[in-house]
Amino acid sequence: MRQPLIAGNWKMNGSKVVTAELLNGIKVGIGDVRTSEVAVCPPFPYLYLAEEMLSGTAIRYGAQDCSREEDGAFTGQVSATMLRDFGCTYAIIGHSERRLFNAETDAVIARKCQMVAAHGLTPILCVGETLEEREQGRTEEVVARHLGAVLDLPDGLNLLAKGVVAYEPVWAIGTGVTATPEQAQEVHAFLRQRVAEKDTEVAAKLRILYGGSMKPGNALELMAQADIDGGLIGGAALKAADFLAICKAG
Ligand code: 13P
Repeated sequence: MRQPLIAGNWKMNGSKVVTAELLNGIKVGIGDVRTSEVAVCPPFPYLYLAEEMLSGTAIRYGAQDCSREEDGAFTGQVSATMLRDFGCTYAIIGHSERRLFNAETDAVIARKCQMVAAHGLTPILCVGETLEEREQGRTEEVVARHLGAVLDLPDGLNLLAKGVVAYEPVWAIGTGVTATPEQAQEVHAFLRQRVAEKDTEVAAKLRILYGGSMKPGNALELMAQADIDGGLIGGAALKAADFLAICKAG
């Protein structure tokens, strides 16, 4: 009942030429992917290329962040309205790299989820523990806090009914150390259970993606898990062939 979503997070990579090549490679190769929904999240300056090249196709696109403000004197920020203007469907919110390098707090992330949803975009809320937190046995505590920042808002269930969650263990991101299917499934099931405690229907429909060194070689077994509904792909999303292979696993 949950359609898998494979989303590429291109992070701060590419150029006009490289981005156009990658978009074209995915567009041309996607032909026989039928089951999964597919999305790409290029850097802000290249969203116009996604709009130009993907409009009219089934491939959706989104941004890697969004301002929590509507508009005005917020130098360097990009608003949800602007993302809509470029035809975005998704906005990744609360990625661990933004938590780390941009000091984003749970409160800021929750506000951003509200902002993007209010403008008709789908937030992809990222949650995940660091290696230290996992070794201290605090994985559930940490992901519950990350999820709770949105779930416990007065409109939290509504946001999750519209949104997507991505479990991205920080120790698996860009390291080549993928969570085992069992490790990932355990956390995904826990997250879904947290939502189910408030509303079983929202929980049953919520797509929970896995992210962290997902590649063609491990995508199938990860996505075979009951509560893993797709992937948020970093490095492997930068090569059309690898990304398409993951899309076909979904
Ligand atoms: P990698 O696939 O490069 O580990 O990155 C995952 C990620 O951070 C996606 O948001």
